[in-house]
Amino acid sequence: MEGCRASSKARSHLAAFDFENGTLTLTEAGTKRQAAIHIFDSEAGIAAIDPGGLEVFSATIGEFRARLTASNHTLKRALTDPHILSGIGNAFSDEILLHARLSPVALTRKLDDAQIVRLFDSIKDRLTFFTDLLRAQCSGGFPEKVTAFRPEMAAHGKFKQPCPQCSTPIQRIVHASNESNYCPACQTGGKLLADRALSRLLGKDWPKTLEEMELRASRQRE
Ligand SMILES: [Zn+2]
Repeated sequence: MEGCRASSKARSHLAAFDFENGTLTLTEAGTKRQAAIHIFDSEAGIAAIDPGGLEVFSATIGEFRARLTASNHTLKRALTDPHILSGIGNAFSDEILLHARLSPVALTRKLDDAQIVRLFDSIKDRLTFFTDLLRAQCSGGFPEKVTAFRPEMAAHGKFKQPCPQCSTPIQRIVHASNESNYCPACQTGGKLLADRALSRLLGKDWPKTLEEMELRASRQRE
């Protein structure tokens, strides 16, 4: 490597690493400014910042069940919290939940065994599908375009568009800067989950965080 410099080319370009045969640029496509570079001189240093989420591909169904039900969270939270499960994130959580036909606000400790097995299989199915797709699309090259919204997705970013499984318009829940997309027919027994805009019309506020959403979901069930 010839050098490393901060780039001023574009706001999304955070750093550039110059090699003899090209430049590797670190970019952040979103606006949250969460990107970071860590440099370690030992494995222990890496372990110190590992949030410890379960790696689903190397886990058994027993390990997955134990981790999922160790705390009572909504599925949306469990799938997107890197302390619980590793490497999924907001966009793929929508795809996984539609594939598994599970509600984003279902609570992990309320799932029956068949639902847990379905979720376990859907995580692996969808992540494998998109990994293979992205590899095929960059066909040996380096992925240039980074986005969480892909035409091949069934739910994520597809608000009002027909569900590929049943043609029902995809719905959304807006919370803070994130949006969850789901199919009411496939995932929530036809029930619409409250959206912030909808809730404002109804004179209610809407939780700003997933934690608050979970608290309300669990109170509703009590
Ligand atoms: Zn559907």
